[in-house]
Amino acid sequence: MPISGPAPGAIEDPPGMNEDDLIQTTLADDGVIQMAGLLPLLMHVGGGVGFGVKGLDGRYRLANPVMERLLCHDGGTLAGRSESELLPAALQAPLERCDQRILSGAAVASEELDLPLDGHPGHYLWLKLPVLGADQKLQSIVSLVYESPPQQASRTVQQTLDSLRQANQELQRAVVELEQVASTDKLTGAWNRRRLEECVGSEMGRFERYQHPLSLLIVDIDFFKAINDRYGHGCGDLVLQSLTGQLQGMLRGTDSLARWGGEEFVVLCPDTNRATAATLAERLRARIAEARFPEVGQLTVSVGVAECGAGETWAEWFQRADQALYSAKAGGRNQVQLAPEARGAGDASENFAANFVQLIWRSAYECGDEAIDRGHRLLFADANELLSAILSGQAPELVNPMVDRLLGDLLEHFRAEETVFVAAGYPGATQHIAEHRELVARALATAAAFRAGTQGVGDVFKLLAHDVITRHLLNSDRQFFDHLRRHRSTAA
Ligand code: GH3
Ligand code: MG
Ligand code: MG
Repeated sequence: MPISGPAPGAIEDPPGMNEDDLIQTTLADDGVIQMAGLLPLLMHVGGGVGFGVKGLDGRYRLANPVMERLLCHDGGTLAGRSESELLPAALQAPLERCDQRILSGAAVASEELDLPLDGHPGHYLWLKLPVLGADQKLQSIVSLVYESPPQQASRTVQQTLDSLRQANQELQRAVVELEQVASTDKLTGAWNRRRLEECVGSEMGRFERYQHPLSLLIVDIDFFKAINDRYGHGCGDLVLQSLTGQLQGMLRGTDSLARWGGEEFVVLCPDTNRATAATLAERLRARIAEARFPEVGQLTVSVGVAECGAGETWAEWFQRADQALYSAKAGGRNQVQLAPEARGAGDASENFAANFVQLIWRSAYECGDEAIDRGHRLLFADANELLSAILSGQAPELVNPMVDRLLGDLLEHFRAEETVFVAAGYPGATQHIAEHRELVARALATAAAFRAGTQGVGDVFKLLAHDVITRHLLNSDRQFFDHLRRHRSTAA
């Protein structure tokens, strides 16, 4: 008895029961929505059969007239009332046992009971079935009550259980499939806009309750129209599919990827502040720029990043990320731009502590030469101050002097360091000085491009955290540390 068999309009109402009967007694709440999914079950309901649905609070949401006559001997309606209000204790106990079995995961539970109907005693088979939501959690309990002469009871029980078990399994499968179809984008299989917005709703609720940071990335392919024009729309589609796979592979399990429309994707990052989101965005951008797409070779993406601000609506938050994306496009594409803090967020000193990934100085980085160690510590402090200002969206008037200060300190430190290792007769001096020149040239170019808006925060971050601090100060410099130590101990 396939549920997907006849079209809804073609379902013949079982004798004695039709949709109108049900709707008559339906409370105006979510029980009505459930009915669409329950219709297949009703195909198994014959005349004189009681049918009802109750919520997990034990109160009936809807019931047919037979069910009402079975339970409401006062002539009232069943909606909003529970079995325990309506039945004597001796009848409640077996029905509660059924509920308990359903609550602990049974696919069906049944009891035989003696009940009066319209003043006449009768023997009934009472079946209870679970209705699960798309999340596979129990939502409500369906009751089907059959009049069953004692001698026929066991055969009826077996047949009814078998057919209902199958109907119920098919119903659950159909619900899961429908949910899947309604939530995903047909071309790429990523979540669609509707599904993402549902998730945004619940994550924003969590954000308001627990203040866990929450960030958003909008990823847009650069010059996608040109890709379509050059290679054809079919190739464009393949690119969208492989890009989805690549993005999905780079995200963490808790991040959600959705195709927002066209060649634009949105990533929702729970428990992620703007600094971490910017780092993630930069990683996505860089990996995509390096990747090869068999259909078209290489391509780039631009990314706008925004962290949800306290009291902000979804539309306001999205708008800030979209503006950041616009800046990334205007700045030349293939870059990440970070939206300024939402208005009304705490002051800059609070944000500094809350958001910033600090470069932490450790004593193991010291070489023992006072001037060099001081220079390195100063550069760490300068870099921390600048990154924090950039990441918390400070105005250019504040950020630009910090860039100047960092460049000035870097030049001065390199000069002092060169004097020290040349005086100590370091054999790698010429090569190390050349490395300084190259870094200074790149730092000047990045600062100029950042100021002109043609390079994003990701480039500045990479230059400072990766090229200057990690690769140079913590790596190349260590090569002359040993030489300095040896030189000092022979001089002493
Ligand atoms: P920009 O760098 O400014 O984002 O330029 P762009 O060309 O990527 O952006 P634009 O918005 O001008 O063009 C987007 C293109 O994406 C145009 C549209 O035909 C194409 N597109 C949208 N949806 C699909 C799709 O499902 N498949 C394919 N192949 N192309 C699509
Ligand atoms: Mg676009
Ligand atoms: Mg585009």
